[in-house]
Order: sequence, then C-alpha cells, then structure tokens
Amino acid sequence: RKIYLNGQLVPKSQAVVSVFDHGFLYGDGIFEGIRIYDGVIFRLDEHLVRLYESAKSILLTIPLTFDEMADAIVETVRANHLQSGYIRVVVSRGEGDLGLDPRSCPRANVVVIADTVRLFPQELYDHGLRIVTVPTQRNSPAALNPQIKSLNYLNSVLVKMEAANSGVLEALTVNAQGYVCEGSGDNVFIVKRRKVYTPPIYLGALDGITRRAIMDVCEKLELPLSETPFTRHDVYVADECFLTGTAAEVIPVIEVDGREIGNGKPGPITQQLLKEFRKIVREQGRR
Ligand code: PLP
Repeated sequence: RKIYLNGQLVPKSQAVVSVFDHGFLYGDGIFEGIRIYDGVIFRLDEHLVRLYESAKSILLTIPLTFDEMADAIVETVRANHLQSGYIRVVVSRGEGDLGLDPRSCPRANVVVIADTVRLFPQELYDHGLRIVTVPTQRNSPAALNPQIKSLNYLNSVLVKMEAANSGVLEALTVNAQGYVCEGSGDNVFIVKRRKVYTPPIYLGALDGITRRAIMDVCEKLELPLSETPFTRHDVYVADECFLTGTAAEVIPVIEVDGREIGNGKPGPITQQLLKEFRKIVREQGRR
C-alpha cells in the first residue's frame, strides 16, 4: 500500500505523523470515508464539499485547494491499483505544542489512505441485521455539531462497543428527547405503509451522502419520503427498517431491541432500494 502524506506517496511503514499532532492529542481534525466502485470514486465532490465544510466550521485550513485534494485522492487510488475499495481522507491540525491552542500548529497534516473494504458479509444483506438501541448519544447540534466529521468519534466508538456487548454488530443512538438519530456510522430509515421515513439531521445525525442518494432513489421510484422525527416505538412497529452509509451501503434491519421488524425478513422496499442503489453506483461517479 502507498499512502498519501503531505504531497508524497510513501510506503505504509513511512506514513507516520508526530505524537505532538493535535489530531492525536485532542482529536483536532476531520475525515471522510469514500467508496470506489469499478474504478470510479463515488460522489467525490459531495464528500469533498463535506470535508471543506467541516474544516471551515473548526477553523482548519486545508493546505490544498479543492481540486488539488481531488487530484491527490485520484493519484492515491491509481498508485494502489484499486478497482473497488474505500478511501479515508484525514486532515489533522498538525504538529504543535502540548497546549490546546491550534495556533501552535503551523500546518495541517493531510493523509489519504486507499484500501480494500471490509463489508458486512453478503449473508446479512440477504437476511438482515439484528441491532439494538444504546445509551450513548450523538453530540447535539448545540455541542459539537454532528455535521462536522471530526476526529472526535468516541461517541460512535462507544456505540459500536455497546452494540458488541449486546451481541450485535450495529446500534442506533437516541437523543435526549427520545428521538432516534442514527447508527455508529450509518443513517437510519424506516418504512411504514409504503412511506419511507428518516430522521431530520437537526436531531443529531450526519447528513450522509448515502442517505441523500437513497432520498434521490425514492424520488426516482416515486416512493413518498419524509424527514420526520420518530421514536424507538415507531421503529419497533415499522414494516421495514434499514441503514445507509458509505461502508454499509444499504443494509436491511430485521430486529431492533429484540422486536422483530415487520415479518423479520428484509422488506420489499428495502430490497428495491438496495438494488437501485447498487445500480446507480455503477452508473455514476466523477472520474
Ligand atoms: N453517520 C455517521 C456518524 C457517520 O460517520 C457516517 C459515515 O460517514 C454516516 C452516518 C453515513 O454517511 P455517508 O453515507 O456519507 O457515509
């Protein structure tokens, strides 16, 4: 593997940053996860817009223009001969002193890793996922806004661990008002009486790019979709439930907190959306 580090492609063993990097010391930085399908980077521009917006929000100067960043990503994918895989872009505040003040960090560190992707096994796409809801919440928009894909992902790490403690692979967060927000690294949708619902992002969810892609697909298929707050109860009594994310794509959920969703099998609308999503990833992309 060749890793992009500050303008150079270096072997993995040389892809190192300082322990004084504020990304390491304070989680001060941002990241993106992007997919490559059949040699095409999926919705690269949308991911880069989100990256630069995250940077702006935390007053982080990315030392590359938007186009230079796009080129660095394409170059990294090419250097690793990847036809399909996953790209991780990380921009950390850079090396500074031990104080919190980022003004001691003169230059951000920029890293691009392109690798193969570890998906859930196909079996789970065919038969669906069992999940739970967990005590850990996402940050409220009043704290660290969940739209910032910051290197502070401890909430999501805890969600994953709480899921594992319950013997499942993924979990949903619920906000202080009792509204369902999202998974550790995925957005959530439910289907009830042929209507599709997803929580509005202001409740405390990332504005996922796969989420938006699914909303586009719903429009194309003329499936009514609504961004409406819903509770755990609404999930339990939904006809269908599924998660969306760059890594997971669209994955059916068949059980939540021990309640079977619908008839306990991936629902027809979920399957239709998964099929349609896989079709669009093959059709579009920037390069
Ligand atoms: N929610 C969180 C907390 C995430 O980290 C991610 C992953 O990026 C998502 C949702 C899904 O977003 P996307 O579809 O852009 O990957």
